[in-house]
Parts: sequence; structure tokens; C-alpha cells
Amino acid sequence: MSILVPSKCRHCGEKFLPPAEPMVLNDPRPEWAKFCQTLTTHLAKKHKRELTFADFQGREYAFVLIALNYEISDPEMQKFCDFARWKVHNVTTRARVSDERIKERVERMLDEEMEDPANDEETTTRISLSNAIAKLLSEMRDVIEERDLYPAPTAAQNGNLAPNPDPS
Ligand SMILES: [Zn+2]
Repeated sequence: MSILVPSKCRHCGEKFLPPAEPMVLNDPRPEWAKFCQTLTTHLAKKHKRELTFADFQGREYAFVLIALNYEISDPEMQKFCDFARWKVHNVTTRARVSDERIKERVERMLDEEMEDPANDEETTTRISLSNAIAKLLSEMRDVIEERDLYPAPTAAQNGNLAPNPDPS
């Protein structure tokens, strides 16, 4: 049994019903190729800029995958490849965590793990500990998300594929 859930265009809300056949990776069925063509045609007709962006990014990333097969010592080429890789990372990262969300989670964890501070000194210690943990987690997040490695792509470049802010 397959459950058909229509795909909805993020730009205009138009819905498209996917094929009843399940998608098989590395074995594209004609129904899915046709469905993909339908989605592409919709973008070509109504959202040309988004299609152009997807096409350009795809070609750039394909070049990176090809370049990985070579030892490239030219620093400009290395920079280009890393920037292209980072853009894919930026668009495909599923979650972003804000500083506020990290602080909230640290506070909750401390509430669960520690008793209420009995005096001012313990309160000060708890605040320092909370700030230190939140700072550490923020730094780890920045490394994992590669924040600010390059100037962020514009909203237009990201389209609506930008990651969800602060998923729980
Ligand atoms: Zn649309």
C-alpha cells in the first residue's frame, strides 16, 4: 500500500501528485522521471529564477565531484571547489540552532540536574556554568554548521530551501 501525498510548490502553493510506485534509489522509474519533469516544467514556467539557480548549483556541484578525482594544487580552484561544496552544505543543512535555543536548553538541563542554589555564590557559579556551557555549544555548532565560513548566499539564491530555524 502506498500513501500518496501531494508535493506542494513552496512559491505558489500548486500541488502535484507523485507516482503511486515507490521511488527506488539508483533505479529511476519512468513514472518518477515524468514526475520530476513535471516539477521542472512548473519551475520553468512559473519560477524561472529558482530553476536557473538549481541548474547552476547542480552544475557547480557536479564539477566539484569531478574535481575530487584530481589533485588540484591551484589555490583559486581549491577555493572555488570549497565554496561550491559549502553552498550545497548551506542549502541542505536540515537544522539551524540559535544562541537563544542553546541557552534555553542549557538552562533546562541545569534545572533538571542541579538543586536550587542555596546562596548568592552558588547562583553566581550556576550562571557562570550556564554561560560557559552555552558558549561551548555555540562554538561547536558554528564548526559543524560552518557558519560564516563564506558570506551567506542571498535569500533569493537559497529560495525556500533554507533550513528550518530551531527545530526541536
Ligand atoms: Zn509554483
